[in-house]
Parts: sequence; structure tokens; C-alpha cells
Amino acid sequence: MHDLQCESLVKRFGAYTAVNSVSFNVPRGSFFSILGPSGCGKTTLMRMIAGFEAPSSGDIRIKGKSVLSTPPNKRPVKMVFQHLALFPMMNVGENIAYGLRCRGENKADIGGKVARVLDRVGLPGTEHKQVSQLSGGQKQRIAIARCMVLEPDVLLLDEPLGALDLKLRERMKIELKQLQHQFETTFLYITHDQSEALLMSDNVAVMNAGQFEQIGSPQELYNNPKTGFVAGFVGDSNRWSGRVVSLSEGKVRVAIDGGGEVTALAGDNRIAAGGSVEVFVRPEAISIGGGRDEVLGGTVESLLFNGASSRILVRMDNGHLVEVGQAVMDGSVTVSPGEKVQICWSQLHGRAFTTAR
Ligand code: ATP
Repeated sequence: MHDLQCESLVKRFGAYTAVNSVSFNVPRGSFFSILGPSGCGKTTLMRMIAGFEAPSSGDIRIKGKSVLSTPPNKRPVKMVFQHLALFPMMNVGENIAYGLRCRGENKADIGGKVARVLDRVGLPGTEHKQVSQLSGGQKQRIAIARCMVLEPDVLLLDEPLGALDLKLRERMKIELKQLQHQFETTFLYITHDQSEALLMSDNVAVMNAGQFEQIGSPQELYNNPKTGFVAGFVGDSNRWSGRVVSLSEGKVRVAIDGGGEVTALAGDNRIAAGGSVEVFVRPEAISIGGGRDEVLGGTVESLLFNGASSRILVRMDNGHLVEVGQAVMDGSVTVSPGEKVQICWSQLHGRAFTTAR
């Protein structure tokens, strides 16, 4: 069962194609994110779903029914904007009641609905507070309550955490996920921040230059990227360019630019002997010492302590800087800047993708 279906959606602005034949289905009650860099077309896509922008071609269906001829205020979707757009002159209760009043609902019902939704977002009894008295996190919850009181089939969220400071953003990621779970409503969330998308979503579509590169669960995208763009955009990776020496049984031997050869999984079926590729290896797959099938030499350049994501930076003999993420925390690896080391990883943790040169 899908709440939202987009089929071959295209949006052109003159000769420029901002959204280029995008198709996806969002299962009912799930948290779906569209993740991509600035300018890739995320907002344009969301504006088409909300009805603020007409597609050049394609279809949008909500609960199986095309909404292309339905005006924005009649679509069963609501949108939370980055700047929340709460009315500063109204108190919390009036902000939430506004949409119900516009719909012409009667006063007695409105009071009950406002109280119930405030309860559900964890701010019971705050009807008479002024918006200016709320913290950043409370404003977020009121903005969501104001949409949810209208019981949309799909809630659209356009980078709603973008304006918050880091600490609050971290907390709100978890709260948003909990709110979605509690309301059991379909959330469509757009962001350029991969950590937000990975943490909150059931499924993520990675968008690049108007197109979807891959749709999958956070685990699938992280562990099994299908394109070099996804491998580079989702999570941290070391990446080295090089040329294919040989290819056999899904594995590719690559001569790294600057020196050294490594073997990695072939990430796409365009890889051919002599072709240009980029090899991606995640820092946490690399450790100091030998004992695994890919071993390269280098010199420790620095130690970056950052709690669980601490890193050792190693300058490889071929000149590349490599981030090593394993065994930094438990004290089992003690290295110092200037020390000669070997770094190693399993071939199964390297992935090569074709690049154009
Ligand atoms: P950001 O994260 O920076 O908001 P985005 O991924 O949401 O980026 P969009 O705002 O959808 O990207 O813009 C995609 C492209 O379409 C951009 O190159 C933008 O300049 C262009 N674009 C968007 N709206 C219009 C418009 N009304 N007229 C012309 N070009 C537009």
C-alpha cells in the first residue's frame, strides 16, 4: 500500500531540466527522505507534490488518486518549512487552530483537536503561550502539530532542522523520528545532510542533477552503493582514482594514481580493462597492521580524536592521505605521528566505480 506515488516526473524551467524523470513510491506510514546536494532539484520535486509547481510531465498520486488537477490547499498533504512560518502575533493554540478555522470547523471541535495534538507532540496545556516564549525545539513541534491537526495523508518536510544549532539538531532528529512513528503518518523529508537521512528514514532516495541515483534503506545505501555518487555522498569514504589493470569474477585490480595496486569489488558493469575508476574504502574498514588482503605502506601524519569517530591520518607512500577508523578508541593501537605503518583492509570492503576522464 502506497500513500504517495510519483511517476516519470519532469520539471523544466525553460531549457533547464530541474527534475528529470523521477519515479518512486512511498509506502504508507513510512519515513522517506530525498537526499542530495544543493541545487539537485529536491525542493522543486517537493513543490510539485505540494502543488506549488506544475510538473512539465508525469503524474503524482496520493492514495492511488492523481492530484495534478487538485489545487495546493485541497491536496491531502501539508508542508513544514525550514523557517517554520509560525504566526508570531498568534499564541500556540491560535497557530494550531488556524487551518481548522479556515476549513470552517466548529469552535467546540477545534478546542478538543488542538488540545489532543498538543498532547501528542509532548506540549500539553501550552495553548496560551506566545510563540516567542518557545524554545527552538518547541517551535519545531508546534509547526508539526499545526500540520498534523489537519490529518494530512503525507507530511512534507523541507530541511526543517536546517536553522537549528548542532546540539538541538541532533536531538530533533530523534524526536522527529519518534513523532512520525507516533502519528503513523507518511513523512517525506528533504535534506542535503546524509546523517539526518540515514538516522531517521525507512527509505532514502539519493538525488543528483535532477535524477535519482538509488533508492534503498539506509543500510543498503551505506553497504551496497550502486553508483560512485552514492558511495561518495552517503557516509565517509577514502577515495582514490586509478586505472583498471584486470577484471575477473566481479573483482577489479586497479593501479592507483601515484603508485600501488589494490583489488576491489566492481561497483558497476561499465568497468573495463584500461578504464578510469574511483576506488572507495570506508575509514572504519581500514586498520593499522597487516593480516588482511589489501596492504599498503605509509606514515602516520596525525591522530584526530573525536570520540567514536576518531581517525588516524596516514600519508600513503603513493602520496594519498588515508583516514583509518578502526581500533582508535580502545587504546589497542598506539601510533605516533611520523611512524611508518602498514594499513590493511579486506578486498570485500573496497568498491570501484567507473569515472569519466
Ligand atoms: P537547495 O538544497 O539549495 O534548496 P535543491 O536541491 O532544493 O537545492 P532546487 O531548489 O529544486 O534544488 O533547484 C534545482 C535547480 O532548479 C536549481 O539549479 C535552481 O536554480 C533551478 N530552479 C529552481 N526554481 C526555479 C525557477 N522558478 N526558475 C528557474 N530555475 C529554477
